[in-house]
Amino acid sequence: MGLKHRIKAGLRGLYARVLWGTGLHRVVDRFSRPRLLVLYGHCVDQPRTNGSLDADMKISGARLEKILETLGRRHDLVTLGEGLERLRSGRAGRSMVALTMDDGYRDNLHDLVPLLERTGARATVFLEGGAVASRELPWLHALGWLVGRLGATEAAAQVAASLGEVPGSPVGVTDAGTLKRRLKYDADPDRRDAALQALVEAEGGDPVQIVDDLYLSMDEARALAAAGPVEVGGHTAHHPVLARLGVDAQEREISGGAALLRELLDEEVSEEGRAPLGASGHAFAYPYGRRWDIGEHSPGVVAAAGYTCAVTTHAGVNHRSTDPYLLKRWPIHDGTRLHEVGVEASGGFELLRRLGIDLVE
Ligand SMILES: [Zn+2]
Repeated sequence: MGLKHRIKAGLRGLYARVLWGTGLHRVVDRFSRPRLLVLYGHCVDQPRTNGSLDADMKISGARLEKILETLGRRHDLVTLGEGLERLRSGRAGRSMVALTMDDGYRDNLHDLVPLLERTGARATVFLEGGAVASRELPWLHALGWLVGRLGATEAAAQVAASLGEVPGSPVGVTDAGTLKRRLKYDADPDRRDAALQALVEAEGGDPVQIVDDLYLSMDEARALAAAGPVEVGGHTAHHPVLARLGVDAQEREISGGAALLRELLDEEVSEEGRAPLGASGHAFAYPYGRRWDIGEHSPGVVAAAGYTCAVTTHAGVNHRSTDPYLLKRWPIHDGTRLHEVGVEASGGFELLRRLGIDLVE
């Protein structure tokens, strides 16, 4: 972490602690305009199914429950669709918090749903079409499996040897972060995916088994979509960096994800594919979700595919005036601090943003 980043994190923690500790966040909450804080994570920590994933993709059930319970005392826990509808109609009332989970991991059915039932919270789960419906192993998990088996240096050397001297080939890379970035932004997606799949098989891995361990099956996805506290949403077919694709390829990826939802929810999605706001299938999450991952044309393609809103991974709260195709979300994982997320839900960081100070991004 760079020095600037560390100073910012320190100031953020200090500011949040003061507001939270003195109870001033309640005053800020009362006098700030109606807002919707959208939380996002991936998995409830479950060693059996997601033990191999990076720590920042997981949150322990106890921690998530504590966050939802604490926020639920002061704010309304809503679904993304309900929160947007209330902002739009001016009936926001109290401030609102919605939970979202990306990709479609198995714990979302087996661990998240019971947790939601206990806390009275609800969630939107964004499903990756290729993994859930076609059991295709996403390259990131192929890479994770290889790094787990060989270590980052050896995995990078093998990927480099397999790709040869092409852009994105990780020649000389020795750490997992750089390896991931290089393959995500610089490598040709088709070559990368084929190379990683072949390397997993050469090391004795079974790509379909890796998918089965991590991701919901279609039957589980159907059960999840039918579960009371959950709405499901789209997350493309193959989780690409949309900004790197032409408009036609973006359309294929985005409507490929929408087709999976239609299959799961045929009774709710209309002919044009557009689900009513507040019903399952209306929402979309951009893969990776940073500004530079989302193409200039992506919001338009998402709208044309029938989605009524789309979420990014930039932090902040959403108001009535926020572009519904560029909604902000706050990450939750085991490193998430309750007083910081609580201060964001209360409008405390937004107060500073209005003064031109962003302690979060
Ligand atoms: Zn994702």
